[in-house]
Amino acid sequence: MSDRAELARAITLVESSRPTDRQAAEALLERALPDSGGAVRVGVTGVPGVGKSTLIDALGMRLVERGRRVAVLAVDPSSALRGGSILGDKTRMQRLAADERAFVRPTPSGGELGGVASGTRAAILLCEAAGYDVVLVETVGVGQSEARVAEMVDHVVTLLLPGAGDELQGIKRGLLELTDVAAVNKADGTEVERAEVAAQDYRNALQLFASRYPGWRTPVLTCSALDESGLAELWEAVLGHRERALGEQGLAELRAQQRLGWLRATIESRLRERFEHAPQVAARRESIEARVARGELSVPAAAREMLGAFEA
Ligand code: GDP
Repeated sequence: MSDRAELARAITLVESSRPTDRQAAEALLERALPDSGGAVRVGVTGVPGVGKSTLIDALGMRLVERGRRVAVLAVDPSSALRGGSILGDKTRMQRLAADERAFVRPTPSGGELGGVASGTRAAILLCEAAGYDVVLVETVGVGQSEARVAEMVDHVVTLLLPGAGDELQGIKRGLLELTDVAAVNKADGTEVERAEVAAQDYRNALQLFASRYPGWRTPVLTCSALDESGLAELWEAVLGHRERALGEQGLAELRAQQRLGWLRATIESRLRERFEHAPQVAARRESIEARVARGELSVPAAAREMLGAFEA
């Protein structure tokens, strides 16, 4: 799979939720499997507006100029929830998208979050088989999606804003715990000092949390995606995490976990799909749900009845 148009078509196929595309998608992934697993997979997360696309554009350009082949994917739960996309509305990562050495995949086409995430996992694999050795997965910092992304990447980079004092409350403990490298972005112009203060606040806050990896202290850096300062240090920190927190054995274990996580997620979503489409469930669903809603039937009894109908 050499050219970018071919890769884009392959990703569209594996993202498709149409049952008729499944067989072809499966065959494609089967063929890609031996050549996959080799990339540095990095999740980039943070609230909308923190500078994820700007940073990915700048960092990605840096990396391709140093001989790496960079692919960028996005997990955008808004496209799943609203059918629209906040990521798609703006012109993003222009330099990288125009560069022959990089592949930028626009927002996935939709479906429920589990489905989108499964498509992204498949897309990572296809990018690796196509020879990309860095895969950056961007996710909007809204709850569930980070946890999903953390399951499919090797390193989670969280971007933060200067002015942590106000923001610290809003950052979920869960997100900090999933973060391997943190960076306060927009450390430029008049914000340099505030960014430093914020970084120190985050360092203090992070002392309270255990990292996912024993012995790894999540570094909190400052950077400016706009001025392209601090990006070399950010990438060094990612590679430091790869070498010191993961190591060769840790990485192999992580790959195994990622595959098994994908398997479980796929089975879960296929089962749910079968359940929802089963005619024997559909026949009884409305009346059972109505009784549950009115408080006439207990939830466990209703679930037993519907699952019984499904299994029959
Ligand atoms: P995303 O929603 O996280 O992808 O954020 P964007 O990359 O779209 O950036 C949101 C806004 O912040 C844009 O207007 C960017 O130009 C601006 N921005 C991004 N990074 C920086 C930075 O390092 N410094 C400054 N001053 N602005 C930035």
